[in-house]
Amino acid sequence: MSPLNVVITGGASGIGLATAILFAARNAHVACLDLRPDVPEPLLGVEADVTDDASVRVAVETAADKLGGIDVLVNNAGIGAAGTIEDNPDDEWRKVFEVNVFGIVRTTRAALPYLRRSAHPAIVNTCSVAAVVGLPDRAVYSASKGAVLALTRAMATDLLADAIRVTCVNPGTVDTPWVDRLLDAAADPDAERAALAGRQPIGRLVTADEVAAAIAYLASPGSGAVTGTALAVDGGMHGLRPRT
Ligand code: NAD
Repeated sequence: MSPLNVVITGGASGIGLATAILFAARNAHVACLDLRPDVPEPLLGVEADVTDDASVRVAVETAADKLGGIDVLVNNAGIGAAGTIEDNPDDEWRKVFEVNVFGIVRTTRAALPYLRRSAHPAIVNTCSVAAVVGLPDRAVYSASKGAVLALTRAMATDLLADAIRVTCVNPGTVDTPWVDRLLDAAADPDAERAALAGRQPIGRLVTADEVAAAIAYLASPGSGAVTGTALAVDGGMHGLRPRT
């Protein structure tokens, strides 16, 4: 089989970068689309803002030209926001949905003509445990990830006709620069880290490499019968209720 050509949004940090490095280690050709596409060799960095349709179209076309097509799209770019239903102004709701939901729409739309030409096409969206569990202080973020889960299933259904598989991963709290920023902003970062680790039954944060491995599985031709699936990578957070 020829090497897979992979495009990853938000591919310059955290889960996206770990996924890019894993694919590259498995001989894939990988383009990382990001606001600041500063990525190590052999990854191809392409500047893109998923909130801007023209930027996404140019970036996807550039990636497809340089890679020689697209087999796998990982819609991973995302931003967070803290707050209950009363806390976030309308502009913040729009901003989070612009990146987390409409970003997937724009990137997928631009990539579909290339995916349709692939022998092993797959789309993997980075969703979240927040799509399926009520978390405190995450109203807008959870709503956006709930939309990603529903969109994943809708896309998987529509794209059956093209034999393009669409799946998502639902990570728990993952040790990435994103969580470092959250901890930096906390009054007591050590206590906050312990609380985040403690709410996951495995007793620790998930690693970016563990999420990358799940994304690589879902994207691989070996998972050819897997579509519309949400794969939890959450340390048991969704399904388990151990006694403490
Ligand atoms: P991160 O902040 O380390 O990386 C996110 C990347 O997305 C950054 O490189 C950033 O520049 C890029 N990005 C942001 N806005 C963009 C835009 N408009 N256009 C292009 N790129 C943009 O975060 P991460 O923790 O690796 O998160 C990646 C994904 O995983 C997100 O979708 C997030 O919601 C999801 N997720 C993260 C966690 C977690 O605990 N870290 C848990 C569940 C889901």
